Amino acid sequence: PPAETPTVVIAAHGLPYLDPGLPVRRRVADLLSRMTLEEKAGQMTQAERGALATPADITAYGLGSLLSGGGSTPTPNTPEGWARMIDGFQLRAMSTRLQIPLIYAVDAVHGHNNLTGATITPHNIGLGAARDPQLAHDMGALTAAETRATGVPWDFAPCLCVTRDDRWGRAYESFGEDPALVKSMETIVQGLQGARDGRDLDRNDKVLATAKHFVGDGGTAYGSSTTGTYAIDQGITKVTRQELEAVHLAPYQEAVDRGVGSVMPSYSSLDILGDGRGAVRMHARADLINGVLKDRMGFDGFVVSDWQAIDQIPGDHASDVRTSVGAGLDMIMVPYAYGDFHRTLVAEVRAGRISERRVDDAVTRILTQKFRLGLFEKPYADTGGIADIGSPAHRAAAREAVAKSQVLLKNAGGLLPLRKSQKVYVAGSDADDLGNQSGGWTITWQGSSGAITEGTTVLEGLRETGAEITHSAAASAPTAGHDVGVVVVGETPYAEGFGDVGNGHDLELSAADKAAVDRVCGAMKCAVLIVSGRPQLIGDRLADIDALVASWLPGTEGDGVADVLYGRRPFTGRLPVTWPKSEAQLPINVGDTAYDPQFPYGWGLTTKASTGEHADATHGAAHALVTEARLRVQEKVGQDVRMTEAVAKPFAAAEHLLLTGRYAQALAKLGEAYRAA
Ligand code: BGC
Repeated sequence: PPAETPTVVIAAHGLPYLDPGLPVRRRVADLLSRMTLEEKAGQMTQAERGALATPADITAYGLGSLLSGGGSTPTPNTPEGWARMIDGFQLRAMSTRLQIPLIYAVDAVHGHNNLTGATITPHNIGLGAARDPQLAHDMGALTAAETRATGVPWDFAPCLCVTRDDRWGRAYESFGEDPALVKSMETIVQGLQGARDGRDLDRNDKVLATAKHFVGDGGTAYGSSTTGTYAIDQGITKVTRQELEAVHLAPYQEAVDRGVGSVMPSYSSLDILGDGRGAVRMHARADLINGVLKDRMGFDGFVVSDWQAIDQIPGDHASDVRTSVGAGLDMIMVPYAYGDFHRTLVAEVRAGRISERRVDDAVTRILTQKFRLGLFEKPYADTGGIADIGSPAHRAAAREAVAKSQVLLKNAGGLLPLRKSQKVYVAGSDADDLGNQSGGWTITWQGSSGAITEGTTVLEGLRETGAEITHSAAASAPTAGHDVGVVVVGETPYAEGFGDVGNGHDLELSAADKAAVDRVCGAMKCAVLIVSGRPQLIGDRLADIDALVASWLPGTEGDGVADVLYGRRPFTGRLPVTWPKSEAQLPINVGDTAYDPQFPYGWGLTTKASTGEHADATHGAAHALVTEARLRVQEKVGQDVRMTEAVAKPFAAAEHLLLTGRYAQALAKLGEAYRAA
């Protein structure tokens, strides 16, 4: 903290809410009883730090929270730079009448991804592929430690979206298409927050987590938007009530049970078929936020709106405020017009159109988390953990996660693992690009190509093995004398919206990438690695590719990819989403009646007989049996993958059954797949 920082002198102040010896409930009640309506409205207001007209507004409005929206980074973008910036804002908050600290938020969705030099972990889609709850927990813990060390106590993660259409631009923020898989990855909440009861939140290596985006963000329909026909981000999710419960709501009860401290509603609208209401913006859905999340599920944290999202509710600003606060939103992210919001909220309460009881409830929820985070006692950054940021230990953990997230889709002739004695020709647009392999939400909101931060590219990882390597991104002249080609192709970074599709691409590889694949695979045995946030269409090219790997968006530790390619670790990842043959098949998901994908949900060859996957402690033997049966099916299908619908469908179904603990049924399905193979 700045040298002139006043410390909170509890004894001198003497007010009960500043007494850390009292239970949080009593401290909150005491503080609330002293607050004016303006101060309460301030707590409910969150502004973008880059949009503050003047830092003095923090004091003037008594702002409860600030955020750094994607890429809103301090100068210099260093751990100390972050801590100094936030402490400066906090100093303003601490000079308000009641000295209520503000709570600062970022989107650390795969490591502390706004910070140069932070450890960037695989995006969620890769963690879903790894199928390892302990690993998801550990990635959350790593993220929390690096984030809190820079003075940020609140993280807008994890995304609990259940992605149902690969054309959605946020598919990679999802753990997968199966709600059971998403649920199994929610150990990440404990990694971020610590114990379920919130007692660890005041530690300098924990953050408050946010389950987002409630609810149905991953289920928006494909259709027309102003820019084309895509799976529309922020669009309309049309579902039956049963589907809403089973697919999209299911992960939220788990998050509530795990004590998640905040929830963010979705930009999308929800159309529950047959209820006669049509499409209603999620930020206006009292039935789900108040009714389901808070009342039925028992969520006692606070609900924060998405970025300017209340403006999308039909009506003027005052009615947006009434509707959203009435629906159960406790804090509104009004990045720019925070002053307007504050005035409107106060006026609406004064006019009796929003009850002060609702406001008190909202403020109670917010203050409760601030007390739990220890912000009243320690409002300023505890930078003790800075040395861990990007440390060898953190990078090693992320590298392991990368290795576990790799999915071997095809391995004809057992091309993988490679041997160090082989001469390798490396090509493709994503072979040597740290930005591309990290994807969106890295350093900037959209992410970008190139050497955007510190880390190891896939190529550098391959080189570390000491193997003899020739590299040509464009594969301009694959020469004779190489034993094997490794072509790393895929997407360039994007966040939200339609992804590459919005830029006029569909899920096809770029022309340059296709050319690289064709040249290399035409000249030698080849392994193709797809670096992307979602499946890419391979089509007939599959026949010419010997080994195919889904690498997802691994982040900064590209050597984790080299680890599995060279057999230092086995391939154990399995598809978290169905891999389609064509765009015409989309959306395609496990459980569909017609299901004839390129690779089914759950598919993933292994380079060792024993997968070494996370063992289920309760059902160890049953789990092992199903794992064994799955391997048998994959062996029978063969490494060159002759897949039919009769195999794919029961195979994918078994994966879902396994995750829901129905081992006998999973085994029966695998038997079906085996007979069909
Ligand atoms: C995204 C959220 C994110 C927020 C704050 C929005 O555009 O939808 O996921 O938390 O921005 O950066």
